[in-house]
Amino acid sequence: MRQYAKAAGISEDVRERMEQTWADVVGTARRSTADGLVVGTSGNVSARVGDVVLVTPSGVPYDRLGPEDAVGVTLDGRRVIGELAPTSELPMHLAVYRTTDAAAIVHTHAVHATAVSTLVTEVPPIHYMTAALGGPVRVAPYALYGSDELAEGVLRALDGRTGCLLQNHGTLTHGATLDQAYDRTAQLEWMCRVWLTASAVPGHTPSLLPPARLTEAADKLRGYGQTP
Ligand code: 13P
Ligand code: ZN
Repeated sequence: MRQYAKAAGISEDVRERMEQTWADVVGTARRSTADGLVVGTSGNVSARVGDVVLVTPSGVPYDRLGPEDAVGVTLDGRRVIGELAPTSELPMHLAVYRTTDAAAIVHTHAVHATAVSTLVTEVPPIHYMTAALGGPVRVAPYALYGSDELAEGVLRALDGRTGCLLQNHGTLTHGATLDQAYDRTAQLEWMCRVWLTASAVPGHTPSLLPPARLTEAADKLRGYGQTP
């Protein structure tokens, strides 16, 4: 990465941060395959360091990615680091970075979430963890993978949320860190699985949480976990 960083006028300490972030991008992508959220080279991961976005390259198995395979692009899509072609979903990743405070994005084809994306236009609020994603998760209308149309639909679906489904395609979540973005994907996939499981019981319809219950959960989740 050193030679590219130098050519792009990137300082030594930013380069070091980029190398660490690239290792984390690859680690997150590998985790998504290991956890069964994607199969093969499906899905993609990115993280922002300053004005550069580090993205997984298109169609390269994650276990083959090393430090020399880093791909970095500017917010307007100019490649400044690496030689491999960036993910085909670059328009979607860049659109999210340009319009939100996201520092990391995870896109998967997780089974239960993808199944739910074919059934509803919004994930039914079956669990209070809906609140952790900013409210009921919307489904962006189907559009060709990698298209600007898909990117625009995703942006609309994300309004006020940190995740959405992509109809007949998969998931997208973002966060302040790669771990946060990844955890949101895992929670979203789990919630979709809960809804499908409850919906599959013959003669019963799952109960859903009303908006006031979600607001109450959102308030409490702000103080969740250990206080420093
Ligand atoms: P890439 O291999 O180009 O990242 O594409 C995978 C994908 O999930 C497209 O939607
Ligand atoms: Zn995809």
